[in-house]
Amino acid sequence: CGIVGYTGRPGAAAAIGHSALDVVMEGLRRLEYRGYDSAGVAVLTGSGMESRKKSGKLANLVAELEAAPLPEATTGIGHTRWATHGGPTDGNAHPHLADGDRLAVIHNGIIENFAELKEELLAAGVEFRSETDTEVAAALLGRIYASTGGQDLARSMQLACQRLEGAFTLLAVHADSPDTVVAARRNSPLVVGLGDGENFLGSDVSGFIDFTRRAVELGQDQIVTITPETVEITDFHGRPAEGTEFEVNWDA
Ligand code: GLU
Repeated sequence: CGIVGYTGRPGAAAAIGHSALDVVMEGLRRLEYRGYDSAGVAVLTGSGMESRKKSGKLANLVAELEAAPLPEATTGIGHTRWATHGGPTDGNAHPHLADGDRLAVIHNGIIENFAELKEELLAAGVEFRSETDTEVAAALLGRIYASTGGQDLARSMQLACQRLEGAFTLLAVHADSPDTVVAARRNSPLVVGLGDGENFLGSDVSGFIDFTRRAVELGQDQIVTITPETVEITDFHGRPAEGTEFEVNWDA
Protein backbone atom coordinates (compact mmCIF):
# COMPACT_ATOMS: atom_id res chain seq x y z
CA CYS A 1 0.00 0.00 0.00
CA GLY A 2 3.06 2.24 0.14
CA ILE A 3 6.01 2.53 -2.20
CA VAL A 4 9.38 4.25 -1.86
CA GLY A 5 12.40 4.44 -4.16
CA TYR A 6 15.75 6.16 -3.73
CA THR A 7 18.99 6.64 -5.63
CA GLY A 8 21.80 9.00 -4.67
CA ARG A 9 25.45 9.46 -5.44
CA PRO A 10 27.63 8.61 -2.46
CA GLY A 11 27.60 11.66 -0.16
CA ALA A 12 24.34 13.16 -1.47
CA ALA A 13 22.36 15.17 1.10
CA ALA A 14 19.94 12.52 2.35
CA ALA A 15 22.74 9.99 2.15
CA ILE A 16 24.98 11.91 4.55
CA GLY A 17 24.80 9.81 7.65
CA HIS A 18 22.18 7.64 5.97
CA SER A 19 22.31 4.69 3.64
CA ALA A 20 19.78 4.20 0.84
CA LEU A 21 18.17 1.70 3.19
CA ASP A 22 17.74 4.33 5.94
CA VAL A 23 16.07 6.69 3.45
CA VAL A 24 13.74 3.93 2.22
CA MET A 25 12.85 2.74 5.74
CA GLU A 26 12.11 6.31 6.82
CA GLY A 27 9.78 6.66 3.82
CA LEU A 28 8.00 3.42 4.70
CA ARG A 29 7.50 4.66 8.29
CA ARG A 30 5.92 7.84 6.93
CA LEU A 31 3.59 5.75 4.76
CA GLU A 32 2.50 3.43 7.60
CA TYR A 33 -0.67 5.48 8.12
CA ARG A 34 -2.08 3.92 4.95
CA GLY A 35 -2.24 0.48 6.57
CA TYR A 36 -0.42 -2.68 5.42
CA ASP A 37 0.16 -6.33 6.28
CA SER A 38 3.76 -6.95 5.13
CA ALA A 39 6.87 -5.01 4.16
CA GLY A 40 10.02 -5.51 2.14
CA VAL A 41 13.06 -3.79 0.66
CA ALA A 42 15.69 -4.36 -2.02
CA VAL A 43 19.03 -2.62 -2.46
CA LEU A 44 21.59 -2.54 -5.24
CA THR A 45 25.16 -3.09 -4.14
CA GLY A 46 28.39 -3.11 -6.09
CA SER A 47 28.02 -6.85 -6.38
CA GLY A 48 24.33 -7.35 -7.09
CA MET A 49 20.82 -7.00 -5.75
CA GLU A 50 19.70 -8.15 -2.31
CA SER A 51 16.29 -8.08 -0.68
CA ARG A 52 14.52 -8.80 2.62
CA LYS A 53 10.78 -9.11 3.27
CA LYS A 54 8.53 -10.01 6.15
CA SER A 55 4.84 -10.24 6.93
CA GLY A 56 3.50 -8.09 9.76
CA LYS A 57 4.60 -4.69 10.95
CA LEU A 58 7.72 -2.81 9.88
CA ALA A 59 9.24 -3.86 13.22
CA ASN A 60 9.35 -7.43 11.86
CA LEU A 61 11.28 -6.26 8.81
CA VAL A 62 13.62 -4.24 11.04
CA ALA A 63 14.29 -7.38 13.13
CA GLU A 64 14.95 -9.34 9.94
CA LEU A 65 17.39 -6.64 8.76
CA GLU A 66 19.17 -6.86 12.11
CA ALA A 67 19.40 -10.65 11.87
CA ALA A 68 20.54 -10.55 8.22
CA PRO A 69 21.94 -7.07 7.48
CA LEU A 70 22.03 -5.73 3.94
CA PRO A 71 25.28 -4.37 2.52
CA GLU A 72 25.79 -0.58 2.15
CA ALA A 73 23.97 0.74 -0.89
CA THR A 74 23.14 4.02 -2.59
CA THR A 75 20.02 2.73 -4.38
CA GLY A 76 17.01 1.00 -2.87
CA ILE A 77 13.26 0.39 -3.00
CA GLY A 78 10.74 -0.34 -0.26
CA HIS A 79 7.17 -1.61 -0.10
CA THR A 80 4.32 -2.03 2.32
CA ARG A 81 1.70 -4.50 1.11
CA TRP A 82 -2.05 -4.68 1.46
CA ALA A 83 -2.69 -8.20 0.18
CA THR A 84 -5.20 -8.61 -2.65
CA HIS A 85 -3.90 -11.82 -4.32
CA GLY A 86 -2.37 -14.37 -1.95
CA GLY A 87 -2.43 -14.22 1.84
CA PRO A 88 -0.22 -11.94 3.94
CA THR A 89 2.75 -14.34 4.19
CA ASP A 90 6.51 -13.76 4.00
CA GLY A 91 6.57 -15.39 0.56
CA ASN A 92 3.81 -13.20 -0.84
CA ALA A 93 5.43 -10.02 0.51
CA HIS A 94 7.24 -7.85 -2.00
CA PRO A 95 9.82 -7.49 -3.58
CA HIS A 96 9.28 -10.30 -6.06
CA LEU A 97 12.39 -11.42 -7.92
CA ALA A 98 13.02 -12.51 -11.50
CA ASP A 99 15.82 -12.81 -14.07
CA GLY A 100 17.94 -15.09 -11.88
CA ASP A 101 17.15 -13.02 -8.77
CA ARG A 102 18.92 -10.00 -10.27
CA LEU A 103 15.66 -8.09 -10.80
CA ALA A 104 13.39 -6.93 -7.94
CA VAL A 105 9.86 -5.58 -8.41
CA ILE A 106 7.41 -3.98 -5.98
CA HIS A 107 3.81 -3.14 -6.78
CA ASN A 108 0.76 -1.39 -5.42
CA GLY A 109 -2.55 -2.20 -7.10
CA ILE A 110 -3.97 -5.14 -9.03
CA ILE A 111 -2.89 -6.71 -12.32
CA GLU A 112 -6.30 -7.69 -13.69
CA ASN A 113 -5.00 -10.02 -16.42
CA PHE A 114 -2.44 -11.82 -14.25
CA ALA A 115 -4.07 -15.26 -14.64
CA GLU A 116 -3.76 -15.24 -18.41
CA LEU A 117 -0.18 -13.90 -18.28
CA LYS A 118 0.72 -16.51 -15.66
CA GLU A 119 -0.53 -19.34 -17.91
CA GLU A 120 1.64 -18.05 -20.69
CA LEU A 121 4.71 -17.73 -18.44
CA LEU A 122 4.15 -21.16 -16.87
CA ALA A 123 3.96 -22.66 -20.36
CA ALA A 124 7.29 -21.01 -21.10
CA GLY A 125 8.82 -22.73 -18.05
CA VAL A 126 8.79 -19.88 -15.53
CA GLU A 127 8.53 -21.03 -11.90
CA PHE A 128 6.57 -19.00 -9.37
CA ARG A 129 7.27 -18.70 -5.66
CA SER A 130 4.15 -16.78 -4.58
CA GLU A 131 0.42 -16.51 -5.23
CA THR A 132 0.59 -12.83 -6.11
CA ASP A 133 -0.38 -11.00 -9.26
CA THR A 134 2.79 -8.96 -8.72
CA GLU A 135 5.16 -11.87 -9.28
CA VAL A 136 3.58 -12.31 -12.71
CA ALA A 137 4.49 -8.72 -13.59
CA ALA A 138 8.02 -9.32 -12.25
CA ALA A 139 8.41 -12.50 -14.30
CA LEU A 140 7.06 -10.81 -17.42
CA LEU A 141 9.46 -7.89 -17.02
CA GLY A 142 12.35 -10.29 -16.36
CA ARG A 143 11.65 -12.29 -19.50
CA ILE A 144 11.31 -9.21 -21.67
CA TYR A 145 14.53 -7.80 -20.23
CA ALA A 146 16.45 -11.04 -20.79
CA SER A 147 15.00 -11.61 -24.26
CA THR A 148 16.05 -8.15 -25.40
CA GLY A 149 19.63 -8.82 -24.33
CA GLY A 150 19.43 -7.11 -20.95
CA GLN A 151 20.06 -3.76 -22.56
CA ASP A 152 17.47 -1.41 -21.25
CA LEU A 153 15.31 -1.78 -18.14
CA ALA A 154 13.15 1.27 -18.96
CA ARG A 155 12.41 -0.04 -22.46
CA SER A 156 11.58 -3.45 -21.00
CA MET A 157 9.21 -1.77 -18.52
CA GLN A 158 7.45 -0.05 -21.44
CA LEU A 159 6.97 -3.37 -23.21
CA ALA A 160 5.76 -5.06 -20.02
CA CYS A 161 3.28 -2.26 -19.28
CA GLN A 162 1.83 -2.58 -22.76
CA ARG A 163 0.71 -6.08 -21.69
CA LEU A 164 -0.51 -5.28 -18.18
CA GLU A 165 -4.12 -4.43 -17.40
CA GLY A 166 -5.51 -3.00 -14.20
CA ALA A 167 -4.14 -0.59 -11.64
CA PHE A 168 -0.48 -0.47 -10.81
CA THR A 169 2.40 1.49 -9.47
CA LEU A 170 5.46 -0.63 -10.23
CA LEU A 171 9.08 -0.06 -9.24
CA ALA A 172 11.95 -2.16 -10.57
CA VAL A 173 15.67 -2.36 -9.88
CA HIS A 174 18.19 -4.62 -11.61
CA ALA A 175 21.71 -5.60 -10.56
CA ASP A 176 22.89 -4.56 -14.04
CA SER A 177 22.10 -0.88 -13.34
CA PRO A 178 23.15 -0.20 -9.73
CA ASP A 179 22.20 3.50 -9.77
CA THR A 180 18.80 3.27 -11.48
CA VAL A 181 15.19 2.80 -10.40
CA VAL A 182 12.52 2.43 -13.11
CA ALA A 183 8.87 3.03 -12.21
CA ALA A 184 5.51 2.94 -13.99
CA ARG A 185 1.99 3.95 -13.16
CA ARG A 186 -1.52 3.30 -14.40
CA ASN A 187 -4.62 4.14 -12.33
CA SER A 188 -2.44 4.28 -9.23
CA PRO A 189 -0.36 7.17 -7.87
CA LEU A 190 3.38 7.86 -8.26
CA VAL A 191 5.35 10.97 -7.36
CA VAL A 192 9.01 11.82 -7.97
CA GLY A 193 11.03 13.76 -5.39
CA LEU A 194 13.84 15.90 -6.78
CA GLY A 195 17.06 16.19 -4.81
CA ASP A 196 20.61 17.36 -5.35
CA GLY A 197 22.63 14.39 -6.57
CA GLU A 198 19.79 12.12 -5.50
CA ASN A 199 16.20 11.44 -6.53
CA PHE A 200 13.21 9.82 -4.87
CA LEU A 201 10.00 7.99 -5.72
CA GLY A 202 6.92 7.65 -3.56
CA SER A 203 3.35 6.46 -3.81
CA ASP A 204 2.74 9.84 -2.20
CA VAL A 205 5.01 12.68 -1.07
CA SER A 206 5.14 11.29 2.50
CA GLY A 207 7.58 8.75 1.10
CA PHE A 208 10.29 11.41 0.79
CA ILE A 209 8.99 14.45 2.69
CA ASP A 210 11.89 14.28 5.17
CA PHE A 211 14.39 14.82 2.37
CA THR A 212 12.94 17.11 -0.32
CA ARG A 213 9.89 19.29 -1.02
CA ARG A 214 10.39 19.50 -4.77
CA ALA A 215 8.09 16.99 -6.41
CA VAL A 216 6.84 15.90 -9.82
CA GLU A 217 3.48 14.20 -10.16
CA LEU A 218 3.40 11.67 -12.98
CA GLY A 219 0.54 11.51 -15.46
CA GLN A 220 -1.51 8.47 -16.38
CA ASP A 221 0.38 5.65 -18.15
CA GLN A 222 3.83 7.07 -17.64
CA ILE A 223 7.22 5.56 -16.90
CA VAL A 224 9.98 7.33 -15.04
CA THR A 225 13.64 6.38 -14.77
CA ILE A 226 15.66 7.98 -11.99
CA THR A 227 19.41 8.04 -11.42
CA PRO A 228 21.18 10.32 -8.91
CA GLU A 229 21.48 13.04 -11.56
CA THR A 230 18.59 12.44 -13.98
CA VAL A 231 14.81 12.01 -14.16
CA GLU A 232 13.46 10.81 -17.49
CA ILE A 233 9.73 10.44 -18.16
CA THR A 234 8.10 8.67 -21.13
CA ASP A 235 4.77 7.13 -21.99
CA PHE A 236 4.35 3.33 -22.35
CA HIS A 237 5.67 3.60 -25.93
CA GLY A 238 8.88 5.43 -25.12
CA ARG A 239 7.70 8.84 -26.28
CA PRO A 240 9.07 11.65 -24.10
CA ALA A 241 6.50 12.89 -21.60
CA GLU A 242 6.31 15.38 -18.77
CA GLY A 243 5.01 15.29 -15.24
CA THR A 244 3.72 18.25 -13.25
CA GLU A 245 6.25 19.88 -10.93
CA PHE A 246 5.04 21.25 -7.60
CA GLU A 247 6.33 22.29 -4.20
CA VAL A 248 5.13 20.32 -1.17
CA ASN A 249 4.05 23.03 1.26
CA TRP A 250 2.38 21.19 4.10
CA ASP A 251 4.08 20.44 7.38
CA ALA A 252 5.00 16.84 7.87
N1 GLU B 1 -1.89 -7.05 -5.60
C1 GLU B 1 -0.61 -7.03 -4.96
C2 GLU B 1 -0.51 -8.11 -3.90
O1 GLU B 1 -1.49 -8.64 -3.45
C3 GLU B 1 -0.26 -5.64 -4.38
C4 GLU B 1 -1.11 -5.22 -3.22
C5 GLU B 1 -0.77 -3.80 -2.72
O2 GLU B 1 -1.23 -2.81 -3.33
O3 GLU B 1 -0.04 -3.68 -1.71
O4 GLU B 1 0.58 -8.45 -3.50
